[in-house]
Amino acid sequence: MTGRNLILVVEDNEANQMLTRAVLELEGYSVAVAGSAPEALDRLRDATPDLILMDIQLPGEDGLSLARRLKANPASSMIPVVALTAHAMTGDREEALHAGCVGYISKPIDTRTFGAAVGRFLQMNGDERLVAG
Ligand code: MN
Repeated sequence: MTGRNLILVVEDNEANQMLTRAVLELEGYSVAVAGSAPEALDRLRDATPDLILMDIQLPGEDGLSLARRLKANPASSMIPVVALTAHAMTGDREEALHAGCVGYISKPIDTRTFGAAVGRFLQMNGDERLVAG
């Protein structure tokens, strides 16, 4: 155990992976990255993150389907999941909340506010819903 919060970033776009990791590491977080649902499940076998940032659009199983599965599994149901959505559409955001996400952050991420938004999600209690980005 380290004192640093571990964030699992599930994102298939390599440029987004690198940017997200860089911003989070600058903010002092430990970061694990997965490019697909199966990779995310592998990472979750390695360690239990404090927060999952979940791209909705992934190759194969999409992020919301994976979020629902994680929420249905007692081993992972307590890990907060935040959707990363490239869509400004309200429907996608509501779908993210229905899938069990605690909220969402819009992509492309705003590097000036992203770290603070992640920090707020980490501090939320389980009943809150927060919209960021
Ligand atoms: Mn994607």
